[in-house]
Amino acid sequence: MKANASSAYPSAPAGAGLNAAVERYYDTTLDLYEDLWGEHVHHGFWDVGERPGSDAERQAATDRLVRELVAFAGLDRLPAGARVLDVGCGIGGPALHLAGPLGCVVEGVTLSAAQAARANEKAAAAGVADRAHFHQRDALANGFPDGSFDAVWALESLMHIADRTAFFAEAMRVLRPGGVLAIGTWSVRDGELNAEEHKVVDQILRHQVMPSFSSLEEHERLAVAAGFTEVAFTDWSANVANSWEPGFAQVRELDNGRSMMRDLARDRGVDVLGFFYAGPLMLKGFATGAVTYGAVRATKPSAATGAAEPAAAAGAAEPAGDRPA
Ligand code: SAH
Repeated sequence: MKANASSAYPSAPAGAGLNAAVERYYDTTLDLYEDLWGEHVHHGFWDVGERPGSDAERQAATDRLVRELVAFAGLDRLPAGARVLDVGCGIGGPALHLAGPLGCVVEGVTLSAAQAARANEKAAAAGVADRAHFHQRDALANGFPDGSFDAVWALESLMHIADRTAFFAEAMRVLRPGGVLAIGTWSVRDGELNAEEHKVVDQILRHQVMPSFSSLEEHERLAVAAGFTEVAFTDWSANVANSWEPGFAQVRELDNGRSMMRDLARDRGVDVLGFFYAGPLMLKGFATGAVTYGAVRATKPSAATGAAEPAAAAGAAEPAGDRPA
């Protein structure tokens, strides 16, 4: 019996091929996501039991998920001008909220050059180009100095990163003492899945170019192991599962548009079809409880806390010169 489910369901190409596959996936699906989901490449959030009624509601629900994660992680307490690293920024939907209403300075990184360019365009159109900058960079080799962010935000990107231990270490490195990590992620139930559940999860991973899922409990363990304090998670599975309802008219249209899918596969490569397979598989995964979704928050120990815990303090030590002015 495995203690955690994180490494039990590897699927998408591992190693060097993974980032290239993720990059290709988001380059080739950019317009599909934008047409269907708008600027947010992530789930919507509804009250439990609420039924989604229209595409406009879907947009409102994806906006709401951003606000829910902001509130869960306490990012609404950040002062204007606070610096946020957006790990896996997509086309900038969440970052525009952080830079706009919250007044943060956001640096977004994505593997897709097309996404980074589109996000910069959208920041300019929204009048926040001075506070929101997007780059094509690997989250694990992001080039930002130690201690240079007040918050690290990773919304539905962690599933694409195989080495989650390295992700938490990197978040710890770039955060200032007292800085906050906010994660929203697809996940799996902790512990073993049965053969049927395993099959569904494995298909999702393959179609969505994800190497593995971790349970929410595993994210918590990894955050604690990396030296974070005040680590907590919440399970939002019942709030987000509606996102995959075929009741969204456009999704149904696309799903049935077999000739369109054939054309897309011919023009863009067969990987693009993963976009269309996710819906029914995710609904099934949520229905069985094998697939879950949640938010995780964690805080880098402040200097005072670190002093009380010598091991953590040693791990968190940073050259003073690298701190932001
Ligand atoms: N957070 C955005 C986009 C989510 S889609 C939103 O909520 O709208 C997943 C994003 O993660 C994509 O932009 C993809 O390029 C990015 N991503 C995945 N692995 C990454 C990595 N290793 N480094 C940087 N970005 C990564």
